[in-house]
Amino acid sequence: RFPLAGWDCHGLPVEVEVEKAHHWTNKKQITEFGVAAFVEECRRSVMTYEAAWRRFSERVGYWLDFDHAYYTMDPAYVESVWWSLRELHDQGLLTKGHYVVPYCARCETSLALHEVAQGYRETTDPSVTLRLRLEEPLLPGTESYLLVWTTTPWTLPANLAVAVGEELPYVAFRGEEGALHVLAEAALPRYFPEETHRPGVVLRLPGKDLVGRRYRPPFPGLVPESDARHRVYAADFVTLEDGTGLVHTAPSFGADDYALGKRVGLGVFDPLDSSGRFTSVLPLVEGRSFKEADARLLTDLADRGLLYRNEKIVHTYPHCWRCDRPLMYRALDSWFVGTHEITERLLRHNATVDWIPAHVREGRFGNFLKEGRDWAISRSRYWGTPLPIWNCPRGHVEVVGSFAQLKTLARGPLPEPFDPHRPYLDELTLVCPTHGETLSREPYVIDVWYDSGSAPFAQIHWPFATGPPDEPPVPLDFVSEGVDQTRGWFYTLHVLAGALFDRPAYRHAIVNEFALDAQGRKMSKSRGNAEDPLALVERMGADALRMGIYLSSYTEAVRYTEQAFRQSGVRMLTTLMNVVEFYRTNQSLDRLPAVDAPPRVSRALDRWILSRLSAAHATVREALDRYDAHRAAETLREVVDDLSTWWLRRSRVRFWAEGLDGEKVEAYATFSFALRQLALLLAPLAPFTAEHLWQALYGTGHSPAPSVHLTE
Ligand SMILES: [Zn+2]
Ligand SMILES: [Zn+2]
Repeated sequence: RFPLAGWDCHGLPVEVEVEKAHHWTNKKQITEFGVAAFVEECRRSVMTYEAAWRRFSERVGYWLDFDHAYYTMDPAYVESVWWSLRELHDQGLLTKGHYVVPYCARCETSLALHEVAQGYRETTDPSVTLRLRLEEPLLPGTESYLLVWTTTPWTLPANLAVAVGEELPYVAFRGEEGALHVLAEAALPRYFPEETHRPGVVLRLPGKDLVGRRYRPPFPGLVPESDARHRVYAADFVTLEDGTGLVHTAPSFGADDYALGKRVGLGVFDPLDSSGRFTSVLPLVEGRSFKEADARLLTDLADRGLLYRNEKIVHTYPHCWRCDRPLMYRALDSWFVGTHEITERLLRHNATVDWIPAHVREGRFGNFLKEGRDWAISRSRYWGTPLPIWNCPRGHVEVVGSFAQLKTLARGPLPEPFDPHRPYLDELTLVCPTHGETLSREPYVIDVWYDSGSAPFAQIHWPFATGPPDEPPVPLDFVSEGVDQTRGWFYTLHVLAGALFDRPAYRHAIVNEFALDAQGRKMSKSRGNAEDPLALVERMGADALRMGIYLSSYTEAVRYTEQAFRQSGVRMLTTLMNVVEFYRTNQSLDRLPAVDAPPRVSRALDRWILSRLSAAHATVREALDRYDAHRAAETLREVVDDLSTWWLRRSRVRFWAEGLDGEKVEAYATFSFALRQLALLLAPLAPFTAEHLWQALYGTGHSPAPSVHLTE
């Protein structure tokens, strides 16, 4: 039986594709179109790529059971995912909070950190220094300003405080019109690189002397005033690495800002709507998307004499992994998996995983686990597994972990057949079993990566179709994925297996790097430098491509050139084919059947090649037991070379002798047994070539098995 193929059906990738087909630009257009119709289009579009994947998998000899594939949108799959969410909630690991999370304004949803990690890109942004006037001057009668730096001018209207380092040294210098300007002493050379033009220091003061002072907000009258707001606070996140050492603090748009705001009671002020546009609270930029408001905000600040420096910066900034728009960080209500609660457990399980390459365990993966960052799983979208949490007006929640439980809460029977997706789920009326009041669902779907992480148990409908006392369906034998997935699939599988079963999700984790083009750039569709894998297979052959990859160091970023693959994969298989051809030609004349057991041979040369094969057998077996395809492929390449360059070259004349003497019989026995062993060892790596070999040996006469892939 082959492993089941599976299809990730939900999530932003599908929704964005349908939106693109309609040329929609915002979420409102979905509700106008109708959520039910939209969801049906998503459901249909999921299967667009099924045929292509199937064709490719078969063409490269990647065997999966496509006929019994699992689909994450199947009601049974969704039910298992609900079961897991209920489990997490019962363990106190699924909670709601108001936190700063990455947010895509176009998709109008929050994202998880591992999604953000997939979208960092270099961009040019404003790099501006603002001056904020202190209500009470530092020296009597001398206007005094705090200098603050930001690369996100659109967050300035939400400014509620300025943060300083309590013990850091600050200085004040006189600006052109004689006013005092305050910044960290260490920042002065950044603003005045040439010593001769550097202004003299008028005042020196530690950060704590600034703490508590009030300043005029950058947009007076916009934010409701309170005693706590628009003051200077001490905070330990202030560093001297960039900026002025005085940090603009907007609690609704930054995690540090939010934490400080919570500590000193700033509250939040968020002038944006859910699509990231300014609302009417700020008529100056009303209706503008956050980043598009930068220019106008800066002009306004400049007109009012508050813009001290206006420059550009090139830096990496996170973009939405699906729609490629710049993200923002934003304080929102969100549901979280509290992974920080089980960090110790996750690290313990990780220690048992055989990572290839090994450094990923403590490095990329282990470090991410150690950070213990919670996983934001709620998405304000339509096509996904609905979050099965309902609120009672009396202030508690009902978490639904099965369709049976849903039935007991629903007023009236569930429709037949039952589809647990939006909007159908929300057409049901659920009643609180304790208070008899109507329940309302938390309006979210969940992170599509949660679906993927549920694959080991949800594909077998755990615990409904199988379940305790059966063995939990983890750990899996192995997972093979790209290095970016250390924060994606590797991560979600690991967290869920750890939380639900207190086990690792997999025994072996094979991490491959990205293919680079000849210039060393990452291949990507958008850059147009990616190879179409199917075209490559047609040009080179499936096995040659497979061997080319195994023979390359695929756990490192390798520059891919067809030339290099040809020199490794194609060359090895061509050598082997020439050897097989020699065997076939001669065998068709002499008609000696291929042997099926180690022959007894007297010649040193024969004994040598048979012993080489037996050693290779052990090495390949050990390498494949460790999922090390590279070592297995290298070993086989060497044996093929030995067989061709040494054994066959020096044995050729033995096949040309007249008749069938003992010498010739031994040569055939050695040859056919060597090819038989090679076919067996090559079968998992180069399945088509291995089968060709097998048929050349046994296709015409007595055969120990009809195919090399049906041998024991
Ligand atoms: Zn987006
Ligand atoms: Zn209730």
